[in-house]
Amino acid sequence: MSAKSNAKNYVNDVLNTVKIVSPRQPIFHQAATEVLQSLVPLFEREPKYQKHSVLDRIVLPEKTTIFRTVYIDDKGKACVHFGYRVEFNSALGPYKGGLRFHPTVNLDVLKFLGFEQIFKNSLTGLNIGGAKGGANFDPKGKSDGEIMRFCQAFASELSKLIGDVKDVPAGDIGVGAREIGYMYGQYKKITSRFDGAFTGKGLSWGGSLVRTEATGYGSVYFAEELLKTKNDNLEGKTCTISGSGNVAIYTAQKLYHYGAKPIAVSDSSGYIYDKEGIDVELLKELKEVKRERISEYAKIKPSAKFVSVSKYPKDRNGIWDVPCDAAFPSATQNELNLEDAKTLYNNGCRLVCEGANMPSNLEAIDFFLSKKDLLFGPAKAANAGGVAVSALEMAQNASMTSWSFEEVDTKLQNIMKHIFKISYEASKEFGDEGNIVLGSNIAGFRKVADAMIDQGYI
Ligand code: NDP
Repeated sequence: MSAKSNAKNYVNDVLNTVKIVSPRQPIFHQAATEVLQSLVPLFEREPKYQKHSVLDRIVLPEKTTIFRTVYIDDKGKACVHFGYRVEFNSALGPYKGGLRFHPTVNLDVLKFLGFEQIFKNSLTGLNIGGAKGGANFDPKGKSDGEIMRFCQAFASELSKLIGDVKDVPAGDIGVGAREIGYMYGQYKKITSRFDGAFTGKGLSWGGSLVRTEATGYGSVYFAEELLKTKNDNLEGKTCTISGSGNVAIYTAQKLYHYGAKPIAVSDSSGYIYDKEGIDVELLKELKEVKRERISEYAKIKPSAKFVSVSKYPKDRNGIWDVPCDAAFPSATQNELNLEDAKTLYNNGCRLVCEGANMPSNLEAIDFFLSKKDLLFGPAKAANAGGVAVSALEMAQNASMTSWSFEEVDTKLQNIMKHIFKISYEASKEFGDEGNIVLGSNIAGFRKVADAMIDQGYI
């Protein structure tokens, strides 16, 4: 059998096994398919990965913990939720990855996120393993007291797993500075330790400057690197950004720094289009301080219009109908399908840079890769800025120092350039120059896989 068909068979066998041992986990299967299929050219060249059963091992989390989380709501009712921590891979360092609080959270979603996190963390060049966690708890509409009690209940169990050189969670959807604060307080109370067991901490108690901005800023730095390959840049480009949370807000802010104009943002209720450009200070006030819906923006800003999700069929995301030069999907997984991708392209969009995790489905990715005049920055490379600065927060905590905004921002820029460079070089090495999906998967995988082989069969 040729090396090519042997490599393909190996990948297909492992993907089939994944489906058998993880039934009813379609989102995890999707993530595994995307990564594994692009590794075929690597396995053709390097039989050692099959010899050491690296794929068979890497698709299984090292440890998965599911725990009951109960808190008392403001009416005195006991509310029961599932809590999870998926510790996927520690070949490169302590487990690292965020916590998501959202009603859609389940093991499927967290396994997809944890799996992606392994390769993303590897790409940063920093020594961190991959993990993800969270709960099927919806923070929307909850009082501050309810949020605090939920976070304390969740952290009571989580504290048994985590530690500064063991497993270091951070934020994700529904988990920001407030939630990290409440969880860290509970961790400290239970363990009597003041250490860097969480990142995204408040600036006065161990947090790092730029952590809040890091994922959005990093995504824009990555977009600039992509554009440089076409002797182009962001200046003057109109941009649409899905979501209006942490990643979306700081993507919009950094786009202005580069002379681009963000014109649309969204949340799960709809999107706003502001022809004058998104007012980032207003967006921050509404979303970070008042925790309002995005429709409120259009009530305050006359140049903006709100379009409700009810105007669109369930399988379409309205924001992708807004003509733009560049799109930054920054809300959630599978929010951009083939029809959305075609609409973006036909309306003139020539750059898609993923701030969210796996926002484009497999058909949309294939479509983007088939267009030679479109630049595509896949999530695990483009949104790695958040975890990179989290690792810089860990470094500052360990050495009891804190670095200036400029210092951390410069390191972030260098890390994003490094990720782009190694991904681009790998795409070239494997015969598809500029295919950053292929390049980032191979570059991210290779480092973890080699570490797993070095460390023996564990
Ligand atoms: P936030 O909770 O701050 O914001 C999430 C935004 O996405 C909100 O506007 C939310 O709207 C919207 N959203 C969430 N779920 C859905 C849905 N099912 N349909 C439509 N809109 C939705 O999260 P972040 O900004 O931190 O995270 C956004 C994405 O970026 C996620 O995929 C996350 O995994 C990824 N990411 C985040 C990092 C970080 O540092 N924060 C790092 C790397 C990746 P609504 O409020 O209406 O739900």
